[in-house]
Amino acid sequence: MPALPLDKGVQFIKGVGPARAALFGNIGIHTVGDLIRHFPRRYEDRRFLKPISALEDGATETFKGLVRGSSERRPRRGLVITRVTVTDGTGAMNLVWFNQPYMAGRFPVNTWFIFTAKISRRMKTVQGTSVEYEEFDTSDPVNTGRLVPVYGLTEGLTQRTVRTIVKAALDECSHSIEDPLPAVLLAARRLSPLKDAVRNGHFPEDEESLASARRRLVFDEFFYLHIALGVLRRSASKREGIAHAPDGPLSERFARLLPFTLTKAQSRAFSEIRADMESPRPMNRLLMGDVGSGKTVVAAMSLVKAVESGRQGALMAPTEVLAEQHYGNLKRMLEKVGIRVALLLGSQGAADRERALEEVAAGEAGVVVGTHALIQERVAFKALSLAITDEQHRFGVRQRALLQGKGAAPDVLVMTATPIPRTLALTVFGDLDVSVIDEMPPGRRPVRTLVRGESARDKVYRWVKEQAASGKQAYVVCPLIEESETVAAQAAADLRKELSGGILKGLRVGLLHGRMKPEEKRAEMEAFKSGETNVLVATTVIEVGVDVPSATIMVIEGAERFGLAQLHQLRGRVGRGAQQSYCVLLNGATSAEAEKRMRVMESTSDGFKIAEADLEMRGPGEFFGARQHGLPDFKIADPIRDVSILEEARREAARLVQSDPALVEAAHAGIRARISEGFKDLGLFKVG
Ligand code: ADP
Ligand code: MG
Repeated sequence: MPALPLDKGVQFIKGVGPARAALFGNIGIHTVGDLIRHFPRRYEDRRFLKPISALEDGATETFKGLVRGSSERRPRRGLVITRVTVTDGTGAMNLVWFNQPYMAGRFPVNTWFIFTAKISRRMKTVQGTSVEYEEFDTSDPVNTGRLVPVYGLTEGLTQRTVRTIVKAALDECSHSIEDPLPAVLLAARRLSPLKDAVRNGHFPEDEESLASARRRLVFDEFFYLHIALGVLRRSASKREGIAHAPDGPLSERFARLLPFTLTKAQSRAFSEIRADMESPRPMNRLLMGDVGSGKTVVAAMSLVKAVESGRQGALMAPTEVLAEQHYGNLKRMLEKVGIRVALLLGSQGAADRERALEEVAAGEAGVVVGTHALIQERVAFKALSLAITDEQHRFGVRQRALLQGKGAAPDVLVMTATPIPRTLALTVFGDLDVSVIDEMPPGRRPVRTLVRGESARDKVYRWVKEQAASGKQAYVVCPLIEESETVAAQAAADLRKELSGGILKGLRVGLLHGRMKPEEKRAEMEAFKSGETNVLVATTVIEVGVDVPSATIMVIEGAERFGLAQLHQLRGRVGRGAQQSYCVLLNGATSAEAEKRMRVMESTSDGFKIAEADLEMRGPGEFFGARQHGLPDFKIADPIRDVSILEEARREAARLVQSDPALVEAAHAGIRARISEGFKDLGLFKVG
């Protein structure tokens, strides 16, 4: 079979027409190569078949069944229930679909299938919903009866479709995948060939082949990043940075106007930053501190320092909500000392944007806050000397470098609320120096955390309602849905409707999710901030930096679905004012593992401890779970779990950059191509 070139569009794959190609486009998959690099989020072990008689209530189980027949019921308008009955010699059960009447036609009587379904047992009947299936005699199954990949999806694509299409793509082209890494390197590091790694990354034979596939893919991810970093660093080190002036009257006035004294940790962090800023060497520093530890003030002081030296500072945030919040806070603080703050957002009106751009270019705005809009080509600074990114784990090295490129070797400060051990921070963030704010401002009352089961849900909401009567405000977070932003948005809208029409009737309930237009989000945030709404139902969009000090209650639905790091971030949204705050974790699972995680949340509010516990508890099922840690934008790698691979990759990358800095040797052509392509916008191999 002639190989399908990796740069061909996905529509050349069997089963992909223009409509599906467009859906893939929605998740950034345009070419065959993009598709086969779209690795699963996780895998489900569907190799072991349980007898029907042993299927457990509440569990998701895999079993085989012989189709006996089907039936359909229409109990009310708009609802069609389709039932397919199967048996296996130990018992019988029904597979159930809602409003998918065509499903009946997919299961011919007297055919064996393998199913994976969520089981419920009522009296004598066994029922399965959320059904996945595969014909039993398929020699090469993709949906069940094996380690099954579970992909990140978008609306309109199902797991089944994506699996089938990925499989077709692999069959057609995996043999034409070339390996950019030199054979000596593969041998020395015992890495699998890329071809095998890609195949097994999707459809592993067993745990072992998955582990070696994963090791190779993780290695690559770190390796290319560290090569890019190495090349970047070499060109940066040639540049002379800016030596800011020692603190003068402006900085002193700013410090006097602060309504509180800095904590020891804040002072220490700022003096480290100050020393870097005053030195001619470009600063490259990570400011790490738990949510609420007071990083923003430290950032503000640094920005004042840049302005005092007659230059400009920029702060880039990953979301509009967060950017606006920083803008509001910084404006309030900085205007007192006469510094003009500009705002740049993607959603801004043309007139506002033009004005902001002019102010920034003319140097009238000493500080500019924004999202990715800051690194657009059109943005020009008069004299940028300090580039801050509030990472909150969303930006990559790339965006940081682009912002850096807006000035002549500006000082760079990266803020992160993800508590990770210092040594690890060094490896993850490359050559950044690290400042840690490991102390909370005084007088904080720790958030009281309560874990409740599903049965207490009504009671919890009745309590929320009571609290609202005395002016308290609450966030309600929907269960985590990874499938797509649209599905998550819908779930949030449904929950809002359920609550405001039911148990929270009479309260004003707002809604915030990732599918809303920026101005809608803004309006919702404003309404909540001003107390106009009592309760804000939200997806995890509120995880990042939302700051409403008057909100004192956080209810997390389906808390068992979140990782510890994420729960910690969510909980950090309350406990920001003087009042006692509460976090209620509604735990919908009965597993010991979920229970244990809930207990960790109850017992500590220390982000470092939580990160450690998270690491310890992560089971072998979670192969591809970096997201939950909130570290930078790795697709597959988990810098904490994979720290030893990270070390290896970093050493190999350093060795390569040392020996062949411009990657001109023939053996490195493939690597060079990958880097130029993958880090295109960094302009790494510019001549000169
Ligand atoms: P972070 O960005 O680290 O999450 P912020 O900078 O937003 O934290 O600070 C959280 C809150 O604590 C803000 O309301 C801020 O004004 C307040 N704060 C910061 N530093 C101090 C301090 N030293 N003493 C008292 N309050 C502080
Ligand atoms: Mg903050």
